[in-house]
Amino acid sequence: MARQDYLIALGSNMRHALYGSPRALIAAALKALDNATCQVVSVSRVIETPPLGPSRRRYANAAAIVRTYREPDAMLRKLQAIEHRFGRRRTGKAWSARTLDLDIVLWSGGAWAHDDGESSLVIPHPFFRERAFVLGPAATIAGRWRDPLSGLTVRHLSARLTKPLPAPR
Ligand code: AMP
Repeated sequence: MARQDYLIALGSNMRHALYGSPRALIAAALKALDNATCQVVSVSRVIETPPLGPSRRRYANAAAIVRTYREPDAMLRKLQAIEHRFGRRRTGKAWSARTLDLDIVLWSGGAWAHDDGESSLVIPHPFFRERAFVLGPAATIAGRWRDPLSGLTVRHLSARLTKPLPAPR
């Protein structure tokens, strides 16, 4: 596999016994991502957003560009190992409070899908176009990256979400 860049979304909405606030946890996760075979080459600011769904805690979100020779499935396994190390447990509840969530939003290899029955991976991430908490930070470090499915840039997708609706006639 040639060298690739991945756009990773990071999110947290729980205090961690060891690392503290969601913001501090994201900083620790970024350190864990950065090693000899995987370099964090760009990081957005951490933003705080109100919770989605029934959870009452605020989310901290950020985006990072990671450069590596890993193929997508190996990259996902690495992200899941970090989630696990930072205490995330899969409960099956989509919107439950979570210590750390790491998603692959885009990568330099275009569209990708793999499902072996045990795990699935879809790039672009199926929901990223509707998530301001992903697109906002992502636009600051990867604004010119293109969604291979719509052809739109991350900056354009982000602006589309945040621009006001046209006034009613
Ligand atoms: P979530 O709870 O939203 O983090 O979803 C985790 C599940 O989504 C994992 O079992 C992954 O196999 C799957 N998945 C599919 N596409 C992606 C992606 N682009 N990034 C991260 N997880 C993904």
